[in-house]
Amino acid sequence: MASKMKGLAMLGFDTIGWIEKDIPKVGPTDALCKPLAISPCTSDVHTVWEHAIGERHDLILGHEASAEVVEVGNLVKDFKPGDKVIIPAITPDWEAVESQAGFSMHSGGMLNGWKFSNSKDGTFAEYFHVNQADGNLAHLPESISPVDAVMLSDMVPTGFHGADNAEVAYGDTVVVIGIGPVGLMAVAGSVLRGAGRVYAVGSRAKCQEVAQGYGATDLINYRNGDIVEQIMEAQHGKPVDKVIIAGGGVETFEQACKIIKPGGIISNINYLGTGDYIKIPRVEWGLGMGHIRIIGGLMPGGRKNMERLARVIEYGRLDVKPLLTHHYSKLEDLEQALLQMKDKTPDLIKPVVSLI
Ligand code: NDP
Ligand code: ZN
Repeated sequence: MASKMKGLAMLGFDTIGWIEKDIPKVGPTDALCKPLAISPCTSDVHTVWEHAIGERHDLILGHEASAEVVEVGNLVKDFKPGDKVIIPAITPDWEAVESQAGFSMHSGGMLNGWKFSNSKDGTFAEYFHVNQADGNLAHLPESISPVDAVMLSDMVPTGFHGADNAEVAYGDTVVVIGIGPVGLMAVAGSVLRGAGRVYAVGSRAKCQEVAQGYGATDLINYRNGDIVEQIMEAQHGKPVDKVIIAGGGVETFEQACKIIKPGGIISNINYLGTGDYIKIPRVEWGLGMGHIRIIGGLMPGGRKNMERLARVIEYGRLDVKPLLTHHYSKLEDLEQALLQMKDKTPDLIKPVVSLI
């Protein structure tokens, strides 16, 4: 095998480019993988162009992929070269105390389970390294294509995490603010958890159409006026049970507080790339006594979650194909796909690069 590989990297703020690096070495519990399909994420856009996590030099981007295992360390038990696998965007250290407490995404400190394209090279390369392979890879079921499987890396687990954290229950009225791929999976996750009325907030017709396909009952366009007014009018003044935030800026928390009922839950999965503070309106937050919970969560990583969510696709409960609007076939196309993710044409939900 060659010793060098190429990858698409953040060269510095606002700049991406192809670089050559050594192929990563595997430790005893690790795996080396070769991507079968890759997709860029809005988070890559926050990182490069919004400077959301600070400066990075020559860091290979990307955290969404399905892959084939190329090499494993001598302590890896359940995976071997040639296996086709799903790669979770978040790859925790499973022995960390935070993982033992149920917060694997924060293993070793806040957000530290997020390693690809943050603290180490990501998946936009000919090869990439996965820590703790037995805990962080999942076998790809034969009935799921590697292209569909890329949506299991991040979009499905993040959207569903939003619905889980909102504790969506049968018959709930749920508002999903933002219906890019993440919000669309929050719509789908809420519907699977039994939501009744589901409002989908976004402006692009393509996303609205797909949101309806996933079970949204009402479409709200934030460009047509204040979403609080639009939703409260449709609700005849009755506040909603749950709000999931998957788009927009820091102002969405204030809006969510204005439409939620006492005892409701506001669940954020949006990566807030800009703004210093989030404002919580005092009166609508029940003067501090409204039992309105606000939770923000990074998706859980790891094998168990991937296997669980893969079964949702495997047994026909969820079809991720409507998310995949743009298809590419060469590693080099990743650059265009990422720029497309930044510029978001009206018809774009998610581009995917298939290398099969
Ligand atoms: P998109 O940019 O594709 O979608 C954003 C959505 O928000 C669009 O529907 C957009 O509407 C809508 N929107 C924009 N501005 C407003 C506004 N002012 N009010 C209401 N809605 C608005 O993003 P993704 O779906 O790809 O990702 C969503 C977020 O999730 C990103 O911040 C991403 O980084 C983050 N993320 C978080 C993860 C986690 O683990 N928590 C993991 C992965 C991603 P339209 O375009 O129709 O105008
Ligand atoms: Zn992502």
